[in-house]
Parts: sequence; structure tokens; C-alpha cells
Amino acid sequence: MVGKYATETLQADAAGIARAVHILRDGGLVAVPTETVYGLAARADSDEAVAKIYAAKGRPSFNPLIVHVATPDETRRYAHLSGEAEALIAKHWPGPLTIVLPRRDDAGLAEAVTAGLPSIALRMPAHPAIRALLEAARFPLAAPSANRSGYISPTTPGHVLATLDGRIDAVIDGGACAAGLESTIIAVRKNGELAVLRPGPIALGQAVSSGAIEAPGQLASHYAPGKPMRLDAAEVAPDEFLIGFGAVAGDANLSARGDLNEAAARLYVCLHLAASSAKPQIAVAPVPEQGVGAAINDRLRRAATLPHA
Ligand code: AMP
Ligand code: MG
Repeated sequence: MVGKYATETLQADAAGIARAVHILRDGGLVAVPTETVYGLAARADSDEAVAKIYAAKGRPSFNPLIVHVATPDETRRYAHLSGEAEALIAKHWPGPLTIVLPRRDDAGLAEAVTAGLPSIALRMPAHPAIRALLEAARFPLAAPSANRSGYISPTTPGHVLATLDGRIDAVIDGGACAAGLESTIIAVRKNGELAVLRPGPIALGQAVSSGAIEAPGQLASHYAPGKPMRLDAAEVAPDEFLIGFGAVAGDANLSARGDLNEAAARLYVCLHLAASSAKPQIAVAPVPEQGVGAAINDRLRRAATLPHA
């Protein structure tokens, strides 16, 4: 234990979920597996509980949180839904799509969740562990990625404990996450236009990309492994840890068979291995830009950008 909490590891069974709901109801913090990455959950309707998320992560207060809901209907309590929003929800929920909508004035959620913005980010996740929590808890959960701010996102309980052991109440062990990349974030404008704020597991052809930094996950430097990293490496130097793809084997391989979905699921595992290796630098083999490859390259570029650059 390094912080003030004795962080419990809970199983993703009935007893573990019941214990997690108890902790959350009392305003505590529980890391929970989702289909994207592990989330650090707190009740979204409590100022005190939400403040603990920012404190545990060291997250800047201007970076708003995604609110996770148990049913599509619940979103009506917190946001104004247009026809375009309804269509996205019908098509993609439950699943790895976060929708940013105009926030209702009477949403009744902690102010800090939306960081003072007039909008709110909502998602109905598919993973059975967080769904069981949401269904039993009956309050919405704010849940950013379960890592110290600026570090690599967690896709295993071990990754969570690496930066948050002693800083949170519990982690639910649900094994490795399937998608392995944070959710796609789409904003639905008042005029019905869609904008991609963050690429992710779901690619939406009709959406236009936004130039402005609206989602702080879009900051140039993010997901940082803490050492220099270069992309599209054709060859590797002796002091570099090579993250391979396909035929480029490397010290760790995103996907030996060149499968982009497998590469997405393994991206953060490979970044964690590279970060903890004795090699002082990281090189990454080229990853094709098609399909989810665009989201993988987006994360790799941010991981390769040094803070304050
Ligand atoms: P994380 O939970 O760490 O993956 O980060 C959540 C992402 O959602 C951040 O990049 C936030 O900026 C973004 N986000 C949350 N709420 C909003 C909002 N109201 N408008 C735009 N982006 C948002
Ligand atoms: Mg994050």
C-alpha cells in the first residue's frame, strides 16, 4: 500500500459487485473493467465522490468526465436528445460510443463532472461488470480511465494498481479489456451536425472531424510512456524497445497476424511493457491507417509527443 487506502481486489461475481456498490454508494472509488479500458468509477450525483476521482488521478479540473448510464432512457434526465442522438444510441448502445449532448440545467449531477461545460458526455457500456454495477447501484457513474492523469490507460487490473494502488478503495478484476482503446467520442450539435472529438473502436463514416480541442483527451501529449518514442520505425537501435506489428516481430508485438482489432486490444499492454523495460527508448513499427488503425495511430502519436511540446 502506498497511499491512504488499502485497495481491495474484488472478483466480478455477485459478492464482488455487491461490495463495489456498497463502496460507491458511500462515495468511494472503484476501478471497474469496461469493454474499452478500466474505468475509475464514482457516483456522478455526488460532488464529494467526483472530487475524489480528480484527486486520485491528479486530473486537471478542466477535463470533464464521461457519465455511464444503465439504460438509454436515463440519458433524458441529463441531456437534451435530438433525432440524430437517438439514432446513434439505437445503433451503438450498449457499446464503446460516447455521445456529447447539450446538458439539462436540472441534470442533478456533480458540477465537476462536466467541468462547467454546457454539454455532457454520456455512454451506456456493454461490459457485464460495469453493467451489473449500474443496474444494482441505480445512480449514474462518472468513470474516466483508471490511471494517474497523463499515464498510459489500463487494460488489466495490474495496470490499474501500478498507478492507483493505495489511492482508491477497490478494483474489480475482470481480466483484460476486449476493445483496449478508449471509446469513440461524438458531439451532436444543436443543428444536428456530428463531430468526432476522439477516434476510437467505433468508426462513424458520416461524422466530420472537429479541429478545436473540445475533449482534453485530444491534447497533443497524452497516454505518455515516460520515455522518448518514435513511430513508423523501419529498423531498431540497440537501446530501443521495439513494439512490432505483423511481420515486424519486435520485443512485443501488437498483432503477429497483422489484425488491427487485436492490435487495438494489445496497444496499452505493449506500451506498459515498453515503459517498464530497461531500454531507454521506444520504437514502433508502422501500423496501417485503415479502420481502427486510425484510432491506434492517434493514440501512438499522442504517446510519442513529449509533455509541453
Ligand atoms: P477519459 O475518461 O480519461 O477517457 O476522458 C474522457 C474524455 O471525454 C475527455 O477527453 C473529455 O474531455 C471528454 N469529455 C467529457 N465530457 C465532455 C464534454 N462535455 N464535452 C466534450 N468532451 C467531453
Ligand atoms: Mg484517460
